Amino acid sequence: MSAIPVLVGGEWRAARAAAREPVLNPADGSTLAEVPLCGPDEVDDACEAAARAFPGWRATPVVDRAQVLFRYKQQLEAQQDALGRLLARENGKLLADAVAEVRRGIDVVDFACGMPSLAMGEALEGIARGIDSHTWRVPLGVCVGICPFNFPAMIPLWMFPIAIAAGNTFVLKPSERTPLTSVRLAELALAAGLPPGVLNVVHGGRAAVDALCTHPLVAAVSFVGSEMVARHVYATAAASGKRVQAMSGAKNHLVVLPDADPELTTKGILSAAFGSAGQRCLAGSVLLPVGAAGDATLERVAREAVAMTTGDPLLEDSAMGPVIRDETRARAVRHVDESVAAGARVVVDGRPRATGRGFFIGPTILDGVRPEMPVAREEVFAPLLATIRAASVEEAVAIANRSAYGNAASVFTSSGRSAAYFRSHVEAGMVGVNVGVAAPMAFFPFAGWKQSFFGDLHATGKDAVRFYTETRVVIERWG
Ligand code: NAD
Repeated sequence: MSAIPVLVGGEWRAARAAAREPVLNPADGSTLAEVPLCGPDEVDDACEAAARAFPGWRATPVVDRAQVLFRYKQQLEAQQDALGRLLARENGKLLADAVAEVRRGIDVVDFACGMPSLAMGEALEGIARGIDSHTWRVPLGVCVGICPFNFPAMIPLWMFPIAIAAGNTFVLKPSERTPLTSVRLAELALAAGLPPGVLNVVHGGRAAVDALCTHPLVAAVSFVGSEMVARHVYATAAASGKRVQAMSGAKNHLVVLPDADPELTTKGILSAAFGSAGQRCLAGSVLLPVGAAGDATLERVAREAVAMTTGDPLLEDSAMGPVIRDETRARAVRHVDESVAAGARVVVDGRPRATGRGFFIGPTILDGVRPEMPVAREEVFAPLLATIRAASVEEAVAIANRSAYGNAASVFTSSGRSAAYFRSHVEAGMVGVNVGVAAPMAFFPFAGWKQSFFGDLHATGKDAVRFYTETRVVIERWG
């Protein structure tokens, strides 16, 4: 089996790196492809190619750059189902979710097509006698994107379309566990007419990441992944003088008040906790029912969770796919075992389904969890929902705010007063009210707080435009 290629200067070629890793189909453990583990030499080639392409791309009028993105959007839309199928195979999420993910990525391309308006500066006549002033947003140069496994289409598309529309060139490093979707995304970008070297792709893990974060030609690094690596990337790239945005791990809380709509709430919790097998940075992993909401909510959610079938993500009757690797389900099982030993109660047990060649584990719900338990504090990234009972919305918010993370939090209620209290007091950047997965659209920022984000400017929306551009202030005297 030959390893998947790298893209350097518009050419797909075999990687120089001899080291490889299998890309597994998590639904059956079979090998789909082999990914090369690139080192500094390959990264150097890609950065050089991106730097060579920069002057020409930057000089290309923004409307012409936007035209390439309009064509790219058409290519992606034509290939949406095929991309979804490829994504579902390497990632394990359900086909419908995979196709929807591609759509969310296309929404970002859509947003980036508006770069002629988005990149406009400001102007003021007569800041002093005979002097006018204006600002421009200018591209940075070579930008880098380092991606996680869990959104193999949407997260690369958070990054390079906005960066290149703004006039930068790009080196993409997909997750070594899900590189196939990125290869296809890049092929389609070339087919849309993106000039050679504007988008380059390298593969691998730590060696490639470290080389990218310290490369002298790189101006900015966008990272999405786990907290430990986010901290490392943020520190390493910033110490090398780069602009960095590092989206990190999460522990998201779902607060249910006794006045919540039962049906809407059950649906919202199930989707947040078990959608994509719990492997979303917006996944709801702690349930905080308040007072009388506790037993009723748990009973309804448990009834539905038990009935969820796990199976091949490409089959329509599967309600949940596998997790990405065997280590992930082993981690989830360990968390359940340790929580039970510490006094938690298993309401729905997914452990008996954690067998076989695919990396499956059933939906799992714990009750009687205490805030200090590891399952309540650490990101498990699996279909595991930990329930902590609270006596009031104030107590629920206080428990949520003890988390080191601050990505998302949701409240389910029919009281405007409680919703208003929640959205102003909970320490999370993305807040859902009667919405389980508080996912911003492409024109809003993906706004994690606390340890869920390191940097200043978030992904997508106007934040991303600012992240991928530098401000130039011009002061002119002509009189
Ligand atoms: P990961 O941290 O294992 O990998 C992310 C990237 O870092 C990959 O490209 C990988 O090759 C690289 N990497 C891995 N180990 C490294 C090391 N030691 N040194 C340098 N680079 C390394 O993350 P993952 O498991 O692929 O993705 C899941 C994580 O991503 C979860 O923690 C999830 O919360 C997070 N995530 C966050 C957001 C957000 O917006 N906050 C969005 C999606 C995912």
